[in-house]
Amino acid sequence: MASKERILELRNQLHRYNHAYYVEDKSLVSDQEFDQLLKELQLLEIAHPDMFDANSPTQRVGGSITKNFPTQVHAQPMYSLDNTYSPTELDDWIKRIEKIHGAAIEDFTCELKFDGASINMTYTNGTLRKAVTRGDGTQGDEVTANVKTIRNVPLHLSPTNLIEEFEIRGEIILPLAGFDAMNAKRLAQGEEAYRNPRNTASGSLKLQDSRETAQRPLQCFFYALAGSLPFATHWESLIQARQWGFPIHPSMQRVSSLEQMLAYIDHWGAQRSRLPFEIDGVVIKVNSIAIQESLGFTAKSPRWAISYKFKAEQVSTRLNSIAYQVGRTGAITPVANLEPVLLSGTIVKRASLHNADQIEKLNLRIGDHVYVEKGGEIIPKIMGFDPAQRGEIQDKVEYIDRCPACQAQLIRIDGEAQHYCPNTAQCPPQIVGKIQHYAGRKAMDIEGLGSETIQLLFDQGLIWTISDLYRLEKAQLLPLERMAEKSVDNLLAGLEASKQQPFHKLLFGLGIRHVGETVAKRLAQHFGSMDALMQSTTDELMDIDDVGQKIGESLAEYFAQADNRQMIEELTDLGLQMVADQVQHTSSVFAGKIIVVSGVFSQYSRNELKQLIEENGGKIGSSISSKTSFILAGESMGPSKKQKAEQLNIPLLKEADVLKLLEI
Ligand code: AMP
Ligand code: ZN
Repeated sequence: MASKERILELRNQLHRYNHAYYVEDKSLVSDQEFDQLLKELQLLEIAHPDMFDANSPTQRVGGSITKNFPTQVHAQPMYSLDNTYSPTELDDWIKRIEKIHGAAIEDFTCELKFDGASINMTYTNGTLRKAVTRGDGTQGDEVTANVKTIRNVPLHLSPTNLIEEFEIRGEIILPLAGFDAMNAKRLAQGEEAYRNPRNTASGSLKLQDSRETAQRPLQCFFYALAGSLPFATHWESLIQARQWGFPIHPSMQRVSSLEQMLAYIDHWGAQRSRLPFEIDGVVIKVNSIAIQESLGFTAKSPRWAISYKFKAEQVSTRLNSIAYQVGRTGAITPVANLEPVLLSGTIVKRASLHNADQIEKLNLRIGDHVYVEKGGEIIPKIMGFDPAQRGEIQDKVEYIDRCPACQAQLIRIDGEAQHYCPNTAQCPPQIVGKIQHYAGRKAMDIEGLGSETIQLLFDQGLIWTISDLYRLEKAQLLPLERMAEKSVDNLLAGLEASKQQPFHKLLFGLGIRHVGETVAKRLAQHFGSMDALMQSTTDELMDIDDVGQKIGESLAEYFAQADNRQMIEELTDLGLQMVADQVQHTSSVFAGKIIVVSGVFSQYSRNELKQLIEENGGKIGSSISSKTSFILAGESMGPSKKQKAEQLNIPLLKEADVLKLLEI
């Protein structure tokens, strides 16, 4: 089959699989098969740049960089919704609009009010053309490249009954599981957790690098078509939208009375905590488009729709004390210890207080009766205290100025809300936290060395730095609690095996601030060894993708400390991997291709690239001919070669294209 036909076929196939998976919740192929087809398509698209399609399934992985998001005026303003909080208010709304309408209204829809970022998308001839944020309601930012990476947003629509051009609105949300996973990763890298899924979802739309957005498990639910469209009812329009391929959440329902609305509200109010994403209420809309049009809008919102907001559940309990936790980077987090109380189905004993400013703002005293709420945030929050119950209790909470673990004077970095203990080398929880991070699954993954064991070894005075781990002896370990011979052997074997972990894992394991897994990989790949990394300058670091000033400074600071340098030296002597492996990448990505490599390259040498191509199934051609599949062209490729390539219509690929295909 000709490649061009194959491209079209692959696109159709992949769109179908995507839709089945992300919208219909059905898996038609294995992940592996899917990836293979996607890779085949990527390669074909690179070889046939004339077949570029901005809505190809390959665009889901992102890749474009947007520095400034262009402002776009909404053809139809994006209104907000009026809120109601009680059955009486809802009843008042119905009466109000019935009065304006001059007759009873008995046809409504109920939908969930998804708590995320609203988006307006334009589809022309069945393809997504534009996605714009709500902004101020009149104009928003165009974030199309980022929205295209969201897996359940259709890039191509099913053609039946298609309307040439229309706008559709939806809410982009970050499901809770994905949010938690993102936070676990942030915390593991010593970064502050994201506050709530809603802000994180809207922040994700404004990332400059769409590849980063593609990494986030965002979803979109659509809830309205906009503009003048041939539908008699809102319900009908959403059913049609679903048939075109849009994800419309199945909770949508038609109702005819206040009682039915309240039943829907009660049902979802109770189910709310079981949903995999957050909702903050229910939206009720007049179903008939004709009645909607006759009711019209106020300055701020449609008269024909209203939201019923769920109250965040709140309880009152006693603030027993405030504890201060010291993280592995020295960040201090104040935590409220509460008299245990039941809140939204779970027993709450602690609440987050974030930082000193938060405590100051709440004006708390130990012994206060505080109101605790589970709002958009995962960890319960203290909202305020009950003055009536304060009585004669003690003084205002004074924030600590010394580290609770090591007594060092705390510092506060300009522009950051958190206090830090600067005593990184001697503060016990920082030492233990660092070793726990080092041994953790994502770093060195040391078998037999869990967090509790590390605490125990530290408490016994057996370890103080990471390198001490490798000097542990059987005779020292056997007398310890819960350390039978078998677990000791297991631990020592785990430590020995960890010496073979690749350099990038070790680098991540050191727990240098802001050096997460991805950055560690990048650094390892770029510098190739610890020596080269330690000798690099901040300027040099900033030239690398994914490495910014913060990271550059943090590395410089880390390597400037003598004890860190000494530990690295010890680890080197102990036989850990301080040099990056020459990564073996083998696949059949280039099977059947004849590739000519010409010019000078920046990341790999010409020979390394040739080797990579061969390892991945390709053949190296010595000169350009009609048999050449493509040319891997570096800087200063000769003009005669360029001319020949042009004559024979042979595509040129850059180093980055090839590395991307190989996922390097
Ligand atoms: P508010 O921001 O409270 O004025 O509420 C209006 C916003 O609710 C809209 O801009 C949408 O982003 C959002 N929303 C979430 N779910 C729905 C829904 N089912 N129908 C309409 N709007 C919704
Ligand atoms: Zn300390």
